[in-house]
Amino acid sequence: MDINAIRKDFPILNQKVHGNPLIYLDTSATSQSPVQVTDAMSEYYNEYNSNVHRGVHTLGTKATDGYEQARMKVRSFINAKRYEEIIFTRGTTAAINLVARSFGDVNISEGDEIVVTEMEHHANIVPWQELAKRKNAKLVFIPLEEDGTIKLENVEAVMTDKTKIVAVTHVSNVLGTINDIKSIAEIAHKHDAYITVDGAQSVPHMSVDVQDLDVDFYAFSGHKMLGPTGIGVLYGKAEILDKMEPIEYGGDMIDFVDLRESTWTDLPVKFEAGTPMIAEAIGLSAAIDYINEVGADEILSYEQELVKYAYDKMSEIEGIEIYGPTEERAGLITFNLDGVHPHDLATALDSDGVAVRAGHHCAQPLMKFLGVSSTARASFYLYNTKDEIDFFIDSLKRTKEFFTHEF
Ligand code: PMP
Repeated sequence: MDINAIRKDFPILNQKVHGNPLIYLDTSATSQSPVQVTDAMSEYYNEYNSNVHRGVHTLGTKATDGYEQARMKVRSFINAKRYEEIIFTRGTTAAINLVARSFGDVNISEGDEIVVTEMEHHANIVPWQELAKRKNAKLVFIPLEEDGTIKLENVEAVMTDKTKIVAVTHVSNVLGTINDIKSIAEIAHKHDAYITVDGAQSVPHMSVDVQDLDVDFYAFSGHKMLGPTGIGVLYGKAEILDKMEPIEYGGDMIDFVDLRESTWTDLPVKFEAGTPMIAEAIGLSAAIDYINEVGADEILSYEQELVKYAYDKMSEIEGIEIYGPTEERAGLITFNLDGVHPHDLATALDSDGVAVRAGHHCAQPLMKFLGVSSTARASFYLYNTKDEIDFFIDSLKRTKEFFTHEF
């Protein structure tokens, strides 16, 4: 990986914040986009902006091609069997809500159980809570180990003949835990349950093969994988999606409309009512090209190198608490510094030009599990460097000194 060449593709990184070079360590919230992505989107707006699936004119045809080619690109990126299995959504949140509403409302009945974990982002817990309320069903939690990992025997232990859905994240946005989705899917299926996976933090950082994992649903967001905001993907097995009803109705998703009755078109457009996110799909397609060009495996191993480097250095800071597993963690580190509120910490780091996240990271149940109300989080991607991590660590140390110094 040529890091200097990569950084040139991300002009946003080449700026000063409060007089210091920007060090962007908040990719887990939103990644930056290379010029290849923004160029593809401006080319669409400047040269062939038009609606899709409608017009026969040249621009409309080109826009439709761009949009549908993006779907093909996503299909091969996650190795889905068929392009119909790729539904474009607004993001991970919208994708999970689609499953909870459309699949959940039909397949969950009173007394059924939905298995989740305490490490879920709110996007993969609240839709299931609401489904459970609508149906008088029960949420069941896979217990977490102290280091924030899941033991497969505990997955097995919570499964009953009432379990209908297992909803679990692939990678925790707080702990960095990488869950063994293939084995969890196997356990779910053995109990005749379906598995839906939150892939918001995995797809951007590792090769994901939905057929190999044998998951029923898999959701992720464009803006965490070098793409634009406003687009995400719901993958679902065609035989399951085929039987599901849309949750939004309107243009494009219909087959035939009469005054009082209508019928729906086929997958995938059945789930994409109205004008879709055309420029965003084209941007996402360019983001996938970029990741493929660098190589998903190369990105993963570079990130692993960065996170290990940062973890070792951060561990040496007195009074630091780092959450999550020591080994096998994704490229993010969530932590607290004794005597410094995470918001103060993030503000102090920002004044040095370092962008980290502070707060509950949309994972309040997990904060409760960790016994804290908030934490700070540094997250890494292919455009970060060890020099940046050195500066971040120095800034952390200075901040600690400032806040804990006895005057
Ligand atoms: N799940 C996880 C694990 C996440 O990290 C996020 C984003 N923070 C989401 C779901 C929600 O993604 P989005 O806001 O793009 O819908």
